[in-house]
Amino acid sequence: MTVATLAQVLGPARRHGYAVPGLVCLGWEDMRAYVTAAEAERAPVILQAGPGCRAHTPLPILARMLRHLAEAASVPVVVHLDHGYALEDCRAALGEGFTSVMIDGSKLPLQANIDLTAAAADLAHAAGASCEGEIGIVGYAGGAQSAGTDPDEAARFARQTGIDAMAVSVGNVHLQQSAGTSLDLARLDAIRAKTDVPLVIHGGSGVPMPQRAQLAASGHVTKFNIGTELRMAFGAALRGSLARDPAQFDRLTILSQTEGPVMAAAVAILRNLGASGRAA
Ligand SMILES: [Zn+2]
Repeated sequence: MTVATLAQVLGPARRHGYAVPGLVCLGWEDMRAYVTAAEAERAPVILQAGPGCRAHTPLPILARMLRHLAEAASVPVVVHLDHGYALEDCRAALGEGFTSVMIDGSKLPLQANIDLTAAAADLAHAAGASCEGEIGIVGYAGGAQSAGTDPDEAARFARQTGIDAMAVSVGNVHLQQSAGTSLDLARLDAIRAKTDVPLVIHGGSGVPMPQRAQLAASGHVTKFNIGTELRMAFGAALRGSLARDPAQFDRLTILSQTEGPVMAAAVAILRNLGASGRAA
């Protein structure tokens, strides 16, 4: 059994100077390719199911698929709920066997975010699982605006909620299709100086790989959420598969062509963050 909690994989990463990616899952093909990549690299990995994934596939089905992969894997695999918005989302996920939940109260006033997140952390810990919270607002490309994390508020948030990981807003933006974001490193430094909790960057696809590697190695960031670049790898592979053989109609044959490219993209992410070889 190699099902792990977020705390179990982020603790060693924070101590030894590497980061573990939270890989965005949308279906069986990509989640299986991520685990194949993690095993090939002897790396821990976080498989996460976000709101889009949950709208497409019912939570109990996702939990079975993710737990099946995690239990059969030879490396630590975290089964993580990304962006739960209410305690009920977290309670449902924990009941289905998720080993980690993110509660996103980032749009609430500070005290309300602290209260909600502390309650989610209590629920998670009582279930033997972990909890990630968010302070400051991470916006969306072409959508909601960001609000940078205040270092003093972050320190208070971490202390009063008991969370295992803290997502921060330091210039990162969700759904970026090219790595153009310049992070606010002074803000990140100031947050890091005030708390020891492992920090999480959502919207990792928008952060250039050299900067991701540097932030992981320095212990500034311990979890990068990566979705868009993996979805782009999958989409490009699927398009190529269809174009190569216009007569092909069997979905399993068509989809099988995505596995190699998605696995290769995940391998590159694990190596870049220094996660490879850490599960040996
Ligand atoms: Zn996010």
